[in-house]
Amino acid sequence: MARLTKEEVKERVCRAIEDAAPELKKIAVSIMAEPELGYKEDKTSSKVQRAFDAMGLTYTTGHGRTGLKARLNGGASGYTVAMIGELDAIVCPKHPAADPLTGAAHCCGHNIQIANMLAVGKGLMADGVMESLKGDVVLFAVPAEEYVEIDYRNKLREEGTIKYLGGKQQLIYEGAFDDIDMAMQMHVATAETPQGEMNLGTTSNGFIGKLIEYKGKAAHAAAAPHEGINALQAAMMGVMGVNAIRDTFKESDYIRFHPIINSGGDLVNVVPDKVMMESYVRGANVEAMIDANKRINRALKAGGDAVGATCDIQDLPGYLPMRNDAVMNDLLEANSKMLFPEDNVRYGEHMAGSTDMGDVSHIMPVIHPWVGCIDGVLHGADYVVSVEEVAYIKTAQALAMTIVDLLYDDAAGAERVMAEFTPALTKEEYLALMDSIDSKH
Ligand SMILES: [Zn+2]
Repeated sequence: MARLTKEEVKERVCRAIEDAAPELKKIAVSIMAEPELGYKEDKTSSKVQRAFDAMGLTYTTGHGRTGLKARLNGGASGYTVAMIGELDAIVCPKHPAADPLTGAAHCCGHNIQIANMLAVGKGLMADGVMESLKGDVVLFAVPAEEYVEIDYRNKLREEGTIKYLGGKQQLIYEGAFDDIDMAMQMHVATAETPQGEMNLGTTSNGFIGKLIEYKGKAAHAAAAPHEGINALQAAMMGVMGVNAIRDTFKESDYIRFHPIINSGGDLVNVVPDKVMMESYVRGANVEAMIDANKRINRALKAGGDAVGATCDIQDLPGYLPMRNDAVMNDLLEANSKMLFPEDNVRYGEHMAGSTDMGDVSHIMPVIHPWVGCIDGVLHGADYVVSVEEVAYIKTAQALAMTIVDLLYDDAAGAERVMAEFTPALTKEEYLALMDSIDSKH
């Protein structure tokens, strides 16, 4: 058989993805109907397992409890590219498809990511494709992207089931990324046009998680407030202290502090002696995030000092800011322009939210496009898939063709990516950074 040209390989990939779309949409709809929160994605994991079985793939399970990893071998060995899909849902009890018991719903579109991961696999399994590539492709279904249910995850941590609250953090720690050289995943976004959009290069904030506890002294709130120490006043002073330094944060660092009070006192006629708060400190780069966190801790502590209460802060490793690989983005841009109207392929702005793909992006080249294909608000009750052709076909085609560009022609694309990439952290440095953030103040 004559060697397939790159264009022929891409044509076969795209046709196979289009053919698989109705079946993969069914899987996405089925995952949407049974949403599960992070580290609890047992049914979702089984659905991916069944899909891998049906595709005749060999895979490993139990990565970060529920994660699965299948490998497609190329015609020759070389770099390994991972196509990632996230298994978990978010909490959104008001969404019509929410689980009535847990409030979980797939209004972050991670079920669409799973369909895209499988679609890329289907495309690359078309006749003659993998044989034409130098290097492997890993289809990687990963747990717990949303940083929620901190209490539950802390329990898993204490039991020794996990070490980190975030799925990809845990996978890096377990070594599940050790045999992967570069990674990609898509994420849905609100569509601005009926054709949908491919937004490339969007960077995002990292964050440090915080549990804050003020302790004072209970007393009768009216008869003997002089005998009490008001923990709620301390907490309010702490938050005001942070507000007093907000204008000292540089605009370009996108610092965010958005606390909630989980418990603010028990009874109205008793001086509150214990107040629990939770927050993130977010920032656009690691240095800024750590610096802001230090100063925010100082301000929070000062709230306690003002009224004589104590303030205990637990800092938890959150996620790192997102770095997109420029060479991989260029390839994705060119492929996307074959599928989307030219103006709908564009470079996005910085986003102040966070994802654990940011952690992966510190140790290997990563792309994480935001794809406009939904209507309503991400994480909102009105979330609905609106541009199905983009959600189930075009995005996977663009990503799969990018993999072809990376691994075809003796992996010239992947060679260029690796030559131009300098990791921000080695895996060891990454784990040391996570451990240094994990601290009590
Ligand atoms: Zn998400």
